[in-house]
Amino acid sequence: MKKLIAGNWKMNMTLDGTRQLIANIVNDMHDDQDLMDKCDFAVFPPALYLAAVRHSLHGFPYISFGMQNVSMNDDGAHTGDLSASMAQDSSCSYVIVGHSERRADHGETNEIVNQKAAQLISHDIAPIICVGETLVQREAGGALDVVEQQVRESVPDHKNFNEVVIAYEPVWAIGTGKVPSLNDIDEMHAHIHRLYKSLFSDNGGIRVLYGGSLKPDNAAEILALKGVNGGLIGGASIDAKSFLGIARAV
Ligand code: PEP
Repeated sequence: MKKLIAGNWKMNMTLDGTRQLIANIVNDMHDDQDLMDKCDFAVFPPALYLAAVRHSLHGFPYISFGMQNVSMNDDGAHTGDLSASMAQDSSCSYVIVGHSERRADHGETNEIVNQKAAQLISHDIAPIICVGETLVQREAGGALDVVEQQVRESVPDHKNFNEVVIAYEPVWAIGTGKVPSLNDIDEMHAHIHRLYKSLFSDNGGIRVLYGGSLKPDNAAEILALKGVNGGLIGGASIDAKSFLGIARAV
């Protein structure tokens, strides 16, 4: 299974900056066949800039793209929301759901995340479902249980659809420069893989990404862990050199 290197650009950059970033990534990757063979890539620009990214990637199939969020409804009177059919219509391959910033800023519960992921699956789009404990929960020794409950409640039933991705992102590691120990990452990823298998035995394997202050200088050891099938990268993904530096660490 190839590692998935995914860049969450969040609410950053102007349209010009977005075009420049995707051009820099494509230019840097272009002659590196080894890199394209070893990893799958996906980028998540602000939805308003998706069309520009799609245009820039025309004829360059090595980078997928998607939205950072989706509505749990499919159409109708939901001002400001974007649906899974719109994502499908815009050629999104993946969509991030349940990022901790959305859980915190918009009160997204596991149940809402589950419905969003189900919408995506019904439109043949792979959800990247984010889970992760807070520092208080980790220090209280509850990280495995918290994440287990998030996986149980946020991942919808999805018979015959095996492109579900889970991103383990400890909330306290996002944007802070702090990362869990390799043992803790290894233990959590093994736990999620085991749990997924017990819940969805027919579906084969999934990719479990690690996210939280992933950088070129810590990526090699984290991405080498057996249960880590790629990375979801925030801050370091809006610079082409550091984004691809993480992929090159694979
Ligand atoms: C994220 O927000 O998904 C993330 C992993 O951010 P960062 O890489 O900046 O910690």
